[in-house]
Amino acid sequence: MEQTLSIIKPDGVNQGLIGEVIKRFEAKGIRIAAMKMLQMTKKQAQGFYAVHRERPFFESLTDFMTSGPVVAMVLEGENVIEKNRSLMGATNYKEAEEGTIRRDFATDIEKNVVHGSDSPETAAFEISYFFNQFELVS
Ligand code: UDP
Ligand code: MG
Repeated sequence: MEQTLSIIKPDGVNQGLIGEVIKRFEAKGIRIAAMKMLQMTKKQAQGFYAVHRERPFFESLTDFMTSGPVVAMVLEGENVIEKNRSLMGATNYKEAEEGTIRRDFATDIEKNVVHGSDSPETAAFEISYFFNQFELVS
């Protein structure tokens, strides 16, 4: 059984999309193993996106991610990393397939509503960044 980290970003929370995003996960048979709402500090966002620290969008991205509350979730299911990525759609919502979360609700390449881990290694790092073992319900 695979796990992945999902985040509903500040723009998603602001647009009132918490329920909509969770509904899409549940409709696909994805199980929620943990969930919390929090507002990231700048340091926390910089650490989370450390792989992107040399990218031109890093400063703006980490400002955006700290601009309001987010909902972090551990999703569980068969092939859930890929399943979640395909529900999310491409990073750039203009290139995302119809019916994906980003195509339906993103307003900008940065403000694209959701985050999802992109590999088992990333998922392990990202889950432990927000949750300890006692916060996961199996
Ligand atoms: N991002 C951005 N400009 C870009 C590429 C990415 O603002 O040109 C932001 C966007 O919010 C994206 C996040 O940085 O979701 C992380 O980028 P990544 O390439 O990992 O995309 P993702 O895995 O989220 O699809
Ligand atoms: Mg990524």
